Amino acid sequence: MRQKLVAGNWKMHGNLIENQVLLGNLRDSLAGMQNMASAICVPFPYLAQAQSVLAGSVVAWGAQNLSEHAKGAYTGEVSASMLQDFGCRYVIVGHSERRALFGETDEVVAAKFMAAIAAGLIPILCVGETLSEREADAAEAVIARQLDAVLKIAGMAGIARSVLAYEPVWAIGTGKTASPEQAQAVHAFIRQKLAAQDADIANRLVIQYGGSVKAANAAELFSQPDIDGGLIGGASLVADEFIAICKAAQS
Ligand code: PEP
Repeated sequence: MRQKLVAGNWKMHGNLIENQVLLGNLRDSLAGMQNMASAICVPFPYLAQAQSVLAGSVVAWGAQNLSEHAKGAYTGEVSASMLQDFGCRYVIVGHSERRALFGETDEVVAAKFMAAIAAGLIPILCVGETLSEREADAAEAVIARQLDAVLKIAGMAGIARSVLAYEPVWAIGTGKTASPEQAQAVHAFIRQKLAAQDADIANRLVIQYGGSVKAANAAELFSQPDIDGGLIGGASLVADEFIAICKAAQS
């Protein structure tokens, strides 16, 4: 039985004062949650704040990106060991905004995935198709390509130490959620593809759905057999929404 994980992706939002209120609220409100796990992925400058507010609570924290390099002359980059210094459990890897806006190729994403694993962080590997790819009936081929790049260097042993997030690009921040049936079909495809290599690891793997998840649609999405929680963007910035989504992951 897989435990659902609800992870917030704050993206480039927040400030010290607002974060203090939101993180404190989440820490207190989620304290009694059972049979699910929660996390918040904050911008780099707020990792110390997340650590200070959330340490010792049920809410884990993490980052939204990392360098594929361990150290060196990479101005502006942040390494996996730096994230470890701030107690991160998770790091998002290959978010569609990183792929589309910052030119991260499948190979770079795979290298970042490996860097996270090597440092003992849990990568949340995002995969998903654009609207034009879906319309061209290429969703599965795109997702298979994204997964294969990671499998090539990390193998199923690496996948076993990660979380996957299916995030259809057309559903991120758009208010257009994949229907539970659409999302379930892709989640089942991902699990079957991985099961062909190792059924046990595939069966234990947490595969989140991400894309305009809200309190109003979370329960129906999470009731699908292969959807193990969510990666939540906009709604993770609103305490009541995020708490309600976490509650939906309990049942
Ligand atoms: C995301 O940023 O990963 C995401 C799913 O965003 P939203 O929930 O706002 O669609």
